[in-house]
Amino acid sequence: MLPFKLVYSDDYYLPIGSHVFPAEKYQRIHDQLVATHVAEASDFVTPQLASDQDILLVHTPQYVQKLKTGTLSPSEEMQMEIPYSPELVRAFWLSAGGSILAAQHALKDRVAVNLGGGFHHAFPDHGEGFCMIHDVAVAIRRMQRDDQIRTAMTVDCDVHHGNGTAAIFAGTRTPGDALPSTAASTIGSPSGKIRQAHADDVFTISLHQHNNYPAWKPHSSIDVDLPDGIGDDDYLAWLDNALSSGLRQFEPELICYIAGADPYREDQLGGLALSLEGLKRRDELVFRVCKARNIPVMVTYAGGYARRVEDTVTIHCNTVIAAREIFAA
Ligand SMILES: [Zn+2]
Repeated sequence: MLPFKLVYSDDYYLPIGSHVFPAEKYQRIHDQLVATHVAEASDFVTPQLASDQDILLVHTPQYVQKLKTGTLSPSEEMQMEIPYSPELVRAFWLSAGGSILAAQHALKDRVAVNLGGGFHHAFPDHGEGFCMIHDVAVAIRRMQRDDQIRTAMTVDCDVHHGNGTAAIFAGTRTPGDALPSTAASTIGSPSGKIRQAHADDVFTISLHQHNNYPAWKPHSSIDVDLPDGIGDDDYLAWLDNALSSGLRQFEPELICYIAGADPYREDQLGGLALSLEGLKRRDELVFRVCKARNIPVMVTYAGGYARRVEDTVTIHCNTVIAAREIFAA
């Protein structure tokens, strides 16, 4: 039995037809964790749909109304890059419910993994890049509303920049605060770049490939713009640096780790060169830091487009194994 919970539902499946996003990965991750005896039935908890009230903590009433009535414009649906259906809306409400449940369990057990979620390209008023609803932001706002936490930090290791996350939490700054763009400072190096900006109650870190989607990257509290093709050791050094820097500046009561599988060298939508082993070391590094500082961590999965879907599944399963290794010790 694992010393933490895995949040999962068969209904995480996204009904998007034939698509580069492997919607079947959620069930395959669940099945592989069970088949390899990493997890047993009692390790899983089943989420409920987030309420509309939860979704509205992050998203605008106009956008929620469009989703619930099927009245997105063709260009809005195109920007989301997944085909609208009422069933898809339900799946995203469920993934948000899953991230809320994972955040609640993380406070109890130090760590919890939502075997889904991580839809970091969703904005308050529109969806983008396969993301309709920002489940992680919804979970943070719900935990704050319930007085479970005051502050949180997102650590986004998907290969793509967390543009929705940055936009959502930049929007909470009070009018007197400097905008992220004006407060940003840059630490350059021949091989990459860190940008920093002021944070309010949620500190956002994004470690991503610079030359990749999205073209417009609103400022996170820390953005690490990585050059194409970097491998395990360089990546881990940048991550270590960003985590240390972030935790020097900010004391979160919850860390939301967005563990994208797409920095993998065989990814179809990524241009970094991490190995399977390097990605597991990445997970271990995040978990070790959270454990050492006694900060609860909730995990979501985000993207993963390996040429072989089984590699994406293995990367996501390894995240659970890494959590077990660090937190069972
Ligand atoms: Zn991605």
